[in-house]
Amino acid sequence: MTLEVDRERLLSEIEALASYSDAEAPAVTRIVFTPTDLKARAWLETQCKEAGLAVRQDAAGNTFARWAGSDADAPAVGTGSHIDAIPNAGKYDGVVGTLGGLEAIRALQRTGFRPRCSVELLVFTAEEPTRFGIGCLGSRLLSGSLPAEAARRLADGEGKSIDEVRLRAGLRGELEEVKLPEGYYKAFVELHIEQGPVLERQGIPLGVVTSIAAPASLRVSVEGAGGHAGGVLMPDRRDALCAAAELILAIENAALTSGASDTVATVGICEVFPGAVNSIPSQVRLSVDVRDTDLRRRDAAMKAAENAGRAISAKRQVAIRTTLLNADPPADCAPAVVEALSQSCKKHDEKFLPMVSRAYHDALFMARIAPTGMLFIPCRKGYSHRPDEYASPEDIARGALMLAETLAALSK
Ligand SMILES: [Zn+2]
Repeated sequence: MTLEVDRERLLSEIEALASYSDAEAPAVTRIVFTPTDLKARAWLETQCKEAGLAVRQDAAGNTFARWAGSDADAPAVGTGSHIDAIPNAGKYDGVVGTLGGLEAIRALQRTGFRPRCSVELLVFTAEEPTRFGIGCLGSRLLSGSLPAEAARRLADGEGKSIDEVRLRAGLRGELEEVKLPEGYYKAFVELHIEQGPVLERQGIPLGVVTSIAAPASLRVSVEGAGGHAGGVLMPDRRDALCAAAELILAIENAALTSGASDTVATVGICEVFPGAVNSIPSQVRLSVDVRDTDLRRRDAAMKAAENAGRAISAKRQVAIRTTLLNADPPADCAPAVVEALSQSCKKHDEKFLPMVSRAYHDALFMARIAPTGMLFIPCRKGYSHRPDEYASPEDIARGALMLAETLAALSK
């Protein structure tokens, strides 16, 4: 029987999952371990079981749905993504790779194919940093990138620890048990919407990811001196916001002059104190995100921004303090998985673009413990993390079909 994706079923499942939301449609809000998230997880588990998959959850809530292969001792081939969604997001981010992965498995089952290696659908806990302030929590723990004791210190906005939240969600076991044993996966492939405009602009339906950029995030505090907006004359000022403004432009410039368009830098948060119209800003807090596919270039951009900060601090007599929140190294995709994905596209006569993933994904962390690859499908205008995020039925089905073909090749 030919390999075919049940497009209607996959689309209706994407709609069904989107109905588990704390925001009004078309927006989706699904924060990890909220009652809504737990209901969505239960629904998904039922779909996996109906497909004959053996489902288990680890202590962090990562879900594994396994289609047993003929060789029980062989390492598994993994696929999957996340189903948590930031506030006011769309219905495709993470979901296409999760439900697309499930449909890819069912499509293979319908052909009568029997994998040698087990094929496992993974649903990662908390890819989004919304609740615990750190992205890819589940895959960080799985890959050993985040030690259990460091995870235990994380708390949500209400001060509840991960242990408190996950135990209340019914999860058992210790976070120490989450890390996967060496060699658990033979390969891992994540299907995802691009979350950028490249594929749509170039009119190419598939992107085979060759490397995944990784962010470094910093918190910067600028401390000057406050005062009355009328009383303090300009030469006497140590305005923290004016200093921060210079620093923001210096950060932008560090990315612009890195020598490669892959370097991007963003100041996404700027909090001004005391924040009154007639008061000189005494304190500013910035959040900075610097990304690149090349670790040395990213570090050089951060160094340039840091040097600029020192100069601004001296010139404006303000204190600039920088705290590094995280600095994950970028990852290269495994040549064998890139090749398997490329061959699948060629076999089906589909055009594909080798490309860089500028957003980071659970695959970034899976790449540390398994040969990893990613497949992108276009999303309208590159929009993501917003309610009008959209991927076409044709693109979704095509992505799931290429994934199925790739899982077949890798699990032989
Ligand atoms: Zn995602």
